[in-house]
Amino acid sequence: MNIGNYQLRDREESFINLNPLQTGGRTTPDARKAIISYIDGYSICDWCKGALHITTEPDIAGFLIDVSDFLGMDYALPTNGCREAKYGVMHAISKGGSILCDANMHYSSEISAERAGLKVYKVPNNGEPEYKVNPLDYAEKIEDIKKETGSYPDLVLLTHVDGEYGNLVDPKQVGKICKDYSVPFLLNTAYSSGRMEIKGKKLGADFIACSGHKSWASGGGNIGILAISEEWEEKIFKGGTNWKSKPIEILGCSSRGSSLMAMMASFPYVKERVKRWDEEVKKARYLVEELTKIDINPLGESPKNHDLIKIDTPVYDKIARGHKKKGYFLYYELKDRGIIGMKPGRTKRFKISTYGLSWDQVKYVAESFLEIGGD
Ligand SMILES: *Cc1c(COP(=O)(O)O)cnc(C)c1O
Repeated sequence: MNIGNYQLRDREESFINLNPLQTGGRTTPDARKAIISYIDGYSICDWCKGALHITTEPDIAGFLIDVSDFLGMDYALPTNGCREAKYGVMHAISKGGSILCDANMHYSSEISAERAGLKVYKVPNNGEPEYKVNPLDYAEKIEDIKKETGSYPDLVLLTHVDGEYGNLVDPKQVGKICKDYSVPFLLNTAYSSGRMEIKGKKLGADFIACSGHKSWASGGGNIGILAISEEWEEKIFKGGTNWKSKPIEILGCSSRGSSLMAMMASFPYVKERVKRWDEEVKKARYLVEELTKIDINPLGESPKNHDLIKIDTPVYDKIARGHKKKGYFLYYELKDRGIIGMKPGRTKRFKISTYGLSWDQVKYVAESFLEIGGD
């Protein structure tokens, strides 16, 4: 169906969607109702008390208390996505020095650091095929930075689960190293919180950045959370000079509408679903095991600890070379079977996610990939 020049979007309603960007953000029925009801501009400001995060009708203030509790932190603010949470921390902390990150970091972390005037250093990964980051390497790199620049980094960032390989890195070890060097620690949980349970302070994190539309079953736009430990409240959540109730780092009031309502509506469901994380990992491991029966090589850590699966697929690349639809054949073969979420044209290497699929769907996806590969 069209509205003007636009085609109405139809994905989750009619297909099995494997797009890793989208599986953890798939909305609940309650979120969809909340989004429509709060769709108009500044809808969330009907009962404004002076700032978004202290609003009690709807109960944003109460929600933020519950969320910081859920994340094992002390305070939380809504943000325009994970990137605004990261940028807010970097900007507040930056003394114009450096930031130590992992080599699998997201582009938005690097861009945020650049905007905050921080020079980026990276802990390398171990390359093909696993691309693993060793958390213990953070200590050596912190020393290297000190030698090179004369000071320790202003901030350390770890991508808990990266968006390229779906590798999970143990934050506890990085947290301990940061404590030893008295460097604040920002944990980027764009692909983890909302899917799996996270208790930030127990992991040694000072700051947690979350992505609602990626991992908390929230749509309706961009939404994120910045959660912090108590000792940082004054610095990170500081209000304006003449606008005390408006936190500077989120420009006073951040996400002002349906996306925040979607996150609030999905939250009871998210709190339950994180308890089923082990089952989600089993599904991903099962699919990888099935796919490697044909000429497909998994990339990233093995066995997997996350639903994001990156694979190298010579089997489809060979078929594409002799196919009249070329690289697009795979996209159409899958779509014919009711499966979408692949980048059209890709056959060499691609990413998929099993998150939130039923076991029947996972088995059907595995069978479909094998069948198309000629098994
Ligand atoms: C997707 C992603 C982000 C960006 O999240 P937004 O909420 O869209 O800003 C940040 N970090 C990682 C690791 C990601 O995968």
